Amino acid sequence: SKAESEAAKRRNLADDAESRRKVLPDIRERSRQEYLRDRTDKQMKMLELGIIDEDTLFKDEKLTKKEKKELELKKETLRLTKERLSLSGKTDDYAMPEDYITEKGKIDKKKKESVLYKRYEEDRDQNKFVTDQDQWEQNQIVKSQLKVGAQDRVKQEEQYDYVFDDQAIEFLNWDWKSNNKDDEIIAKIDEAEKKAKTIEETRKSLPIYAFRDELLNAIEEFQVLVIVGETGSGKTTQLPQYLFEAGYTKGGKKIGCTQPRRVAAMSVAARVSEEMGVKLGYEVGYSIRFEDCTSDKTIIKYMTDGMLLREFLTEPLLDGYNCLIIDEAHERTLHTDVLFGLVKDIARSRPDLKLLISSATLDAQKFADYFDGAPIFSIPGKPYPVQICYTKSPEANYIGAAVTTVMQLHITQQKGDILVFLTGQEEIETVQENLQQACRVLGSKIRELIICPIYANLPPDMQGKIFEPTPPGARKVILATNIAETSITIDGISFVIDPGFVKQNFYSAKTRASATQRAGRAGRVGPGHCFRLYTKHAYANEMEENNVPEIKRTNLSNVVLMLKSIGIRDVMSFEFMDPPHEQALISALKDLSDLGALNNEGELTKLGRRMAEYPLDPMLSKTIITSEKYHCSEEVISIISMLSVQSSVFYRPKDKKFHADKARQNFTKPGGDHLTLLNVWEQWVDTNYSLNWCHENFIVYRSMTRARDVRDQLVGLCERTEVKLESNPNPADIVPIQKSFVAGFFMNTARLLPFGDSYQKIKFGEAGRRIHVHPSSSLFQTPPKWVLYYELVATQKDYMRQVMEIQPHWLTEAAPTCYTKAE
Ligand code: ADP
Ligand code: MG
Repeated sequence: SKAESEAAKRRNLADDAESRRKVLPDIRERSRQEYLRDRTDKQMKMLELGIIDEDTLFKDEKLTKKEKKELELKKETLRLTKERLSLSGKTDDYAMPEDYITEKGKIDKKKKESVLYKRYEEDRDQNKFVTDQDQWEQNQIVKSQLKVGAQDRVKQEEQYDYVFDDQAIEFLNWDWKSNNKDDEIIAKIDEAEKKAKTIEETRKSLPIYAFRDELLNAIEEFQVLVIVGETGSGKTTQLPQYLFEAGYTKGGKKIGCTQPRRVAAMSVAARVSEEMGVKLGYEVGYSIRFEDCTSDKTIIKYMTDGMLLREFLTEPLLDGYNCLIIDEAHERTLHTDVLFGLVKDIARSRPDLKLLISSATLDAQKFADYFDGAPIFSIPGKPYPVQICYTKSPEANYIGAAVTTVMQLHITQQKGDILVFLTGQEEIETVQENLQQACRVLGSKIRELIICPIYANLPPDMQGKIFEPTPPGARKVILATNIAETSITIDGISFVIDPGFVKQNFYSAKTRASATQRAGRAGRVGPGHCFRLYTKHAYANEMEENNVPEIKRTNLSNVVLMLKSIGIRDVMSFEFMDPPHEQALISALKDLSDLGALNNEGELTKLGRRMAEYPLDPMLSKTIITSEKYHCSEEVISIISMLSVQSSVFYRPKDKKFHADKARQNFTKPGGDHLTLLNVWEQWVDTNYSLNWCHENFIVYRSMTRARDVRDQLVGLCERTEVKLESNPNPADIVPIQKSFVAGFFMNTARLLPFGDSYQKIKFGEAGRRIHVHPSSSLFQTPPKWVLYYELVATQKDYMRQVMEIQPHWLTEAAPTCYTKAE
């Protein structure tokens, strides 16, 4: 019957999903974007079907205005429908009651569901709701129908069977079968390969080289210059060298070049020292948080924008520099934005200082305007055309889709390296693992695939691998974070895979501007292809045009503390390019005064001055400084170092999940995650930093060594700020450690609500917002009544990560102005 065929259809849908899951093991937590997309039409339907209730649907949502409006509208439609039905005597839906009312007059729930589902489908077929979700479903149904009759479908080429079967990701205007002889690409790559150049030849072949003299003239003539050029035109590596060659470093003055990302600062400095034939750390060096690789000799210094900001603390006019290049200005990071205000200011009092603002995109006019009409110098040069291919339907699992697409490309395309954009280390490692696995399965059936990850915590020697030329016959696939968007140029990429996500503070759909940048990475050697793992519809409707500057979306207390300590009293009238919301500034000022960093007049207190010495979130620096009072600074800095690598301490190989979980459990300590991390750290120290111990206990050695580096730095900072290093005299008593954290994190505290596992913030929270202990926490199973957390991550739910048990009366002790006894 009809109902049965409906049910079968849906079973097929489920089967199909199941089979996808088997081949592509790591189904990730679904992103918020998808969640929202899903929720709209589909969930409204579920609401109608009575599968979920209205409260579940509308509870706890942080929606944009547009989404809210949409939901309101639907809610209203629903209400009207119900009203109309009740007027016409039909009680609860627009389905004919007899369709699912049994002879006994009862409602057959199953039948009702399928009747309603059918109506939903009819509506959909009449294009009443055309969402991506619907399209996807439609597509899956068609696929599963095909599958039933597919036994004797023409057998596909043998090699496809292994990986894909019917998993192949389908793209608009791209056919996997026929699109495999792109002669033009191959010719261009061959040509590029033949021209293996010397360093000197490479330098001369860069687009910027033709404009060297013109540029130097312009720099001489104008104090501030905005420089725009495609990624790879040579801005970052060449500009400082040109300035050096033109004599701007005479008298030991430096050229500073800021980068928003640590990896970029390191990798570019390494490259430039090589080009100049000097040892890294001598004439050419870099400085990033927790690592200073410069010397007295250094004249070209690459650094993160945050590090230059810190230099203002000791050298308010930056007298050591003759030229400053604010690179990657288009990224508009918080630090870059603050730098703009500061360098604009010192440029006025230092007419000898040269200021270059360099950007990969066309925001240039805005920079020029901000710097009082500075001229714009454009480096011409157009990349090759890049064909954009969108998926036909949305991909619920973009990690899986990315892996599959890489393998499809590797098998079908003769030549050309691949660049995949992912959001972070964890994702990169997952994809790497999956690709390795796929390659193992296919063995000698395919050519060699060289997998090169690149992300911030990757050791520098591994980072170099991405720049090595691909050996003949092999293919390189680079798994990169946003860093490869504009900060680092990797030559020889013909294919870009762009899942469409970027990690800012939470996962969010990225912008069309950055999608364009990403696609552009495929067009440096010759014409390229960019595979977007989202639909054209999503591109047009779900992406913002441009990046919102970080300053508009972040907690500003760190910046405010920094501005205050640089001597800027009136933070409210600091000359920001895009002023942050007044409210955000005010709340940062309030947080700082709650923390005791500012007094009633808004001036830096002694504590605040000490806090500003730390390149850390004010909550962390307060914790460290307070730990002195409780005689446990050694433990507290160990914990904070571990928190800096928190998400990558434990690993869980697929074939040893059980053992890994068990090992992890053994580390658990009363009090929660902070103390568990401390335990891991202390045990590791006891083994004398053993690699083997890490292997045996499923601990990531690299993360531990990184934590060790961070800790060494913190020890140095403690010495500088005269925080006495002391070990907790009675290790069995964890209260001093807990109290130290409460002193810094009293704003991140929550209380367990009755009947369940959700929490509500004690103070400083939005009314009605529920938060939860992250499933990875050691306190997940046994949620304590009062907790403190390190950070809140928003995925499907709002999760507290790194949770510690506390006592409420400690709050009144730590922050008497915020908490009174009654709370
Ligand atoms: P831009 O800053 O304009 O985007 P870059 O100066 O970063 O350009 O890059 C110019 C060229 O320098 C790149 O095309 C690449 O060939 C080369 N290059 C940059 N960094 C490295 C590196 N670490 N190793 C090898 N080559 C590099
Ligand atoms: Mg650059």
